[in-house]
Amino acid sequence: MPIYDLRCQQGHRFEVIQSFTAELPACPVCRSRAVKLPAGCALSGVAAVPPAHDSQPQTWRGTYHGDRGYLAELRAQAQARSRLEAKYPELAADQRPVIAHEGRYEAAPLRLGDPLE
Ligand SMILES: [Zn+2]
Repeated sequence: MPIYDLRCQQGHRFEVIQSFTAELPACPVCRSRAVKLPAGCALSGVAAVPPAHDSQPQTWRGTYHGDRGYLAELRAQAQARSRLEAKYPELAADQRPVIAHEGRYEAAPLRLGDPLE
């Protein structure tokens, strides 16, 4: 549900979390009618996060048959991701090697150390 900034006729400001269709509450201070304030601007200029290593192409075809420009772009993304993960290890994906990825493990690859059923 969205958060609304409200202001009453006396100038008191408060916030409510409620559905779009619900009736707006009265001011908690003076009980007068409140109106929605325009939404504030969101933060902009968010840094681009390099894609995870797992999202790199896994096949030759996925690299447009080794297109040099695309490979250079992928390499730059991978290096940027590695630098990010070095700084913020909690962002790093599972680093254990995949030991089975076909058949029953296609959806969830078996990694070294996973229990065998
Ligand atoms: Zn008020």
